[in-house]
Parts: sequence; structure tokens; C-alpha cells
Amino acid sequence: MELYPTPRDVALIDVYHLGRPHVISAFLLLGEAPALVDPGPASTLPALKAGLDAYGLTVADLRAVVLTHIHLDHAGATGLIAAENPDLVVHVHERGAPHLIDPSRLLGSAGQLYGDRMATLWGDVRPVASERIRVYTGGETLRLNGHLLRAFDAPGHAKHHLVWFDESNGAAFVGDNTGVRLPGVRMTRPATPPPDVDLVAWQRTHDLIEQLHPQWLCLTHFGAYSDVDFHLTDARLRLQQWAEIVRQSLLSGHDEATGVAALEAALASEAAHLSPAEQAAIIQQTGPLTLSWRGLARYWQKFGNLGAAS
Ligand SMILES: [Zn+2]
Repeated sequence: MELYPTPRDVALIDVYHLGRPHVISAFLLLGEAPALVDPGPASTLPALKAGLDAYGLTVADLRAVVLTHIHLDHAGATGLIAAENPDLVVHVHERGAPHLIDPSRLLGSAGQLYGDRMATLWGDVRPVASERIRVYTGGETLRLNGHLLRAFDAPGHAKHHLVWFDESNGAAFVGDNTGVRLPGVRMTRPATPPPDVDLVAWQRTHDLIEQLHPQWLCLTHFGAYSDVDFHLTDARLRLQQWAEIVRQSLLSGHDEATGVAALEAALASEAAHLSPAEQAAIIQQTGPLTLSWRGLARYWQKFGNLGAAS
């Protein structure tokens, strides 16, 4: 098993989404009360279990699942894990909890995006019983033995997003709020799928993360990074750039295919300084940017004054 740099008492489990490395990481909080931050999708539960096994743990040993948000690539396995371990508690944003209890709406909207690939991508998403769930709106703390986690409301990528800051080791579990990155590569990309992207809220969330002065940013896609200043600056810049590309594309009346191509060209030029192997890895990790384009386009159509040239 490949080992990655991580904060103290935290392990990274690569769940090999669709068999690919470096797409989805689950973070394991080690100690007397082992817990998972974002266990990943239901489809990758066997790889998650293999990862736990490498630390001498099983699902039965876990005390908690701590969720940054309830998108299927982060939280899809929660129902299966909770069913397997009746003592485990799930910690989630108040706005995300209803979708854990009844995933039908979440599955319906994901189905519109992913169509007949749903089962392959995300697997068997089971509901979580409400009595197993603790809800957060930001401002609360959660103590898991050696880990003292503070919850922060962190909209931008999703309305129901939390950032969890572990005061014991300076790790910020930022979910998708600081974008996507490959291990060893000094470059981030935004994660902007529909339907909740909110650029104004997102900026406030970036401010919040900065003010926490974390020693580590733990990204679901993919890994833990200690070059926090670089990462945050880069993540802010890329988000602004991509948002502007989509805004301009909408103003020019482009169709979606042209808009997506413009984003893909931007990514290619941002990655031009990297080695060919790194560029290929990024393209594989990212896939088509259709969803990124749609999330930003939806934001501008909802909130942007596309008639004004500001
Ligand atoms: Zn994600």
C-alpha cells in the first residue's frame, strides 16, 4: 500500500475509485476512537475495508463517520457502514442529514447527471437511520479521543458543506472547498459540479480556512498538503479564472460543448509546465469538465448579471 504524507494520527486510504489511484481519499482518524472522515462511495467499500485492515481495523472498530458533505463520492458508503456497525455515529451538516436519512432525492439528481453509470460509479447507497445521526451547523466541537474537531459552516461547493478542523494536529478536512490536486503536483483545480456552487459564499469559506491557519489541508481529491499558503492561493485563483471563463462563454452565447472546450483548454494551459506524465494523470483524474462547466454556468445564470460587463 502506498503511503502518503498525512497529519499526525491521520492515515489516508486510497479507495481506488473505478480501480484508479488518486481519485478519492478517505481519511482515517487513528487512536482510541477510530473514525473516518468521508468514507467515499458505496462502490469502493471493499477497498476501504482493505485500507482499514492495513491498520489492523475493521468497520466494527469504527466509532464515527464524519462527513464534510453528502455528495456520493464522499458519503455514499455511510449507509452500508452504519448498517454493519450498530454503534457507529454519523456526524453531518444539518442540511445534509435529510439526504442521508432518505437518499432518494440525492440519487434522483445524481441520476440526472450520471444516467446509467450510477450503479457502477456509486454502488448501493443505503439510508442511515435518523437516530444514528448528529447534526451540525458550524460552531460545535466533536471530541474523538485524541482528536478535537471543530465544525465550520463552509458553503461554496455545496450548501451542506462543513470544514472540520482538528485542533490536535492542525488538519483541516476541507472536502472539495479547496479544489482537486494530485500528490506531488503543485497545481489545483476547482471542483464545481451543480447544483449548489456559490462563488460569494465560497470566497468566505476560503477566508475562513485561511483564518484557521491550518498546518494541513486534507482533500478528498486527493491527499493531505502542508504547503497551505501555496495551495489556498492557487485554489482561489483557479476558481476565479474558471468562473470568469464560464461567464465570458455565457456572455458570448456559446453552447455547452464550446464552453467545456474553453475550460479544457484553460486546464491544458495551466498544466503546460508539468511533465507529460503529470499532465496525463491530471486528465485521467479530472475526466471531462462538463460538470464543472455546468455548476459554474448554473451559478451565473442564477446570480450573475450577465447583461452587464463588469
Ligand atoms: Zn467530491
